[in-house]
Amino acid sequence: MAQGKAVEAFEEELCDFLGLPNGCAVAVSSGTAALYISLLFLGAKDKNVAFPTYTCSALRNITTFASANSLLVDSQISSPNIDLELIDKNVDIAIVPNMFGIPQIINRINKPIKIIEDCAQSLGAKVKSSNVGLQGDIGVFSFYATKLITSGGQGGMIVSKDSSLIQEIKDYRLFDRRNDSKIRFNFQMTDLQAAIGPIYC
Ligand SMILES: *Cc1c(COP(=O)(O)O)cnc(C)c1O
Repeated sequence: MAQGKAVEAFEEELCDFLGLPNGCAVAVSSGTAALYISLLFLGAKDKNVAFPTYTCSALRNITTFASANSLLVDSQISSPNIDLELIDKNVDIAIVPNMFGIPQIINRINKPIKIIEDCAQSLGAKVKSSNVGLQGDIGVFSFYATKLITSGGQGGMIVSKDSSLIQEIKDYRLFDRRNDSKIRFNFQMTDLQAAIGPIYC
């Protein structure tokens, strides 16, 4: 089995690091996969998804891949982060990256939009005293070779305080030998990657 106990241990370790109960994280094959799955589970199809012009190209790719409409938003004048003031009532979902480890406080504007906090560049950064990744509906992390930690070159994680959402994503990730006809996909991390990943060494 490629995805097994080491993946589970890595998921639990990230929960512990972020101050979440166990069962609030699911490991996947990349940060891009984590973002794509997040959009899928927030029902992004045909919805308006806002993200900053200045960020990783993965955000534009996954928005298109999830059949959502991309709304490009400018950065702040004094920071490379997205200007949340520019998110208007047309937006259904916002992807908010904390660029270069610079955390930003996320306030919900105008209406209760869904928020994905993209922490690919900010594992361990804090907003007030809590770790980034917990401000939105979903937090995503990347363990690509150039990020704060890596799981052997590629890897990602999705976190949420909503453990039932995480459970649904775990079900989606387990695509093989299922008894129903639900469509799932192989976005798995391997135990070999997860063994390289851990934060506490
Ligand atoms: C690296 C990065 C991603 C994509 O992560 P991969 O693991 O490379 O797919 C997404 N968003 C931001 C802000 C990134 O820096």
